Amino acid sequence: MDGCGSGAIASVLANLGAAGDWLEATYKQLHSHPELSFQEHASGDFVAGALASFGFTVQRLGGTGAVGVLANGDGAVVMSRADMDALPVTEATGLPYASTVAGVMHACGHDVHMTALLGAARLMAEARQAWSGTLIVVFQPAEEVGRGSRAMVDDGLTHKVPRPDVVLGQHVMPLPAGKLATAAGPVLSAADSLRITVHGKGAHGSMPHLSVDPVVLAASIVVKLQTIVSRETRPGEFAVVTVGALNAGTTANIIPDRATLLVNIRSYDDAVRTRILAAIERIVTGECAGAGSPLPADIELYDQFPLTSNDVAAAERIGEAFAAHFGPETVMAATPQTASEDFSVIPDAFGAPYNYWFLGGMDPEKFRAARDPGGAAPEIPANHSPLFAPVMNPTLGVGVQAHVVAALAYLAGRIPSSSS
Ligand code: ZN
Ligand code: ZN
Repeated sequence: MDGCGSGAIASVLANLGAAGDWLEATYKQLHSHPELSFQEHASGDFVAGALASFGFTVQRLGGTGAVGVLANGDGAVVMSRADMDALPVTEATGLPYASTVAGVMHACGHDVHMTALLGAARLMAEARQAWSGTLIVVFQPAEEVGRGSRAMVDDGLTHKVPRPDVVLGQHVMPLPAGKLATAAGPVLSAADSLRITVHGKGAHGSMPHLSVDPVVLAASIVVKLQTIVSRETRPGEFAVVTVGALNAGTTANIIPDRATLLVNIRSYDDAVRTRILAAIERIVTGECAGAGSPLPADIELYDQFPLTSNDVAAAERIGEAFAAHFGPETVMAATPQTASEDFSVIPDAFGAPYNYWFLGGMDPEKFRAARDPGGAAPEIPANHSPLFAPVMNPTLGVGVQAHVVAALAYLAGRIPSSSS
C-alpha cells in the first residue's frame, strides 16, 4: 500500500484550474437548493448523475444516498465520504446564491463537502492513467439527525462495494479558508440524547399533599445531574451533560402527573460515556424513589452519534501528505471539537481505519482583523448559524485537493515523482 509521489498528484490536479468554474457552479446550485435529512432527492440524483458521467459505477443506497466505485487497477481501496443534508434554518447571508427554499439552508456546509468530493472524483477519473487502485465515493443522507450513514450500512453498503483500506472525510469549519486541521485520536465527541419521563400523581394546585409533584421531582433531577460532570468526572476529563428541555404541566393551579426532560451528553471516551449514562439512570431512579414516584421513570436513548477518533497511522500518513503538498504552515493540529458526526459508522462497519479532517472555510481577513487588538472583532459565524457563509475561493479548491492528496497517500502511482 504505497502512496503516490508528487508526480501523480500533479497529474491529477493539472485539471483543477479548468474545473474551477464547474466547481463554483456546482456549489451555487447545491447551496441554493438545500434539502433536509432523508429528503436529499435532487442532491442525490445530481451527485449520482455526475459520478456516472465521470465513469463511476453508481449505486443508490440508504434512500437518497449514492455510492460510486472507480476500479482502476491493482492497489489500495480508498473510500471518501461526503454528507448531503441541510438544516431547518432560514438563511440570512444575503448571498446572490442564497437558499431558494424557505426555512431550509445549507448552514453546516454539506454543500461544500459534496462539491469538493465531486471535484476530486472528477479529477481522479480524468487522470486515471496517473494512479492505480480503487476509489469509492460515498454521498450519505441525513448526517444532521445521525442516521444517514447507518441507513447506508443497513442497506448493504459493506456487501455492495469492496472493503476500503482507509475511509476519509472532511468538514468545513470556521477556520481561515485554505487551512486544514487533523489529528490522531478523538476529533469529534460522541453524543447521546435521552428522553426521560418521570411520573408523579396529579392533584389540584391547592392540595399538594394529595400529589406526588413531578415538577419538583424534575427540578431536583436537573440540579443533581449537574454533579455528574462536576463531582463524578475526573477533573480534566471531557464530559458534557446538558438538560436542553424540561416540560411539565399546563397551568398554574394543576399539579401535573408527569414531567419530561431532554438531556444531551458528549464524551471522547467510551468508558466516560458509559459512566455518564449509568449515573443519569442512578440519579433519576434515586430521585424518583425519594419523591415517592408511583412508576419507574421511562428513559429512552435517541439521536446517538458515535465517537470520531482518527486512526493514529492514518492521521500521520495524511498529515505528512498534506504538509508536503500544501506546506506545513497550512496544516494545523486539530483540537477535538465538542460537535458530533455519524461518519465513523461507515468505517466501523467495514472495520477500516479512518481519518477525518477540518477544512477552513472563512475569509482569512476576518481572522486577521479579529486578532488585531485595536480593531473591532468581526463576527465569524459558525456552522448552523443563518449567517454561515464559507468563501468559495480557496475553500472549494483546497477541499478538492485535500481529498485528492489524502487518497493518493494510499493509492499507487503510475507517474514517478518529479522531486524524488
Ligand atoms: Zn451540522
Ligand atoms: Zn455538518
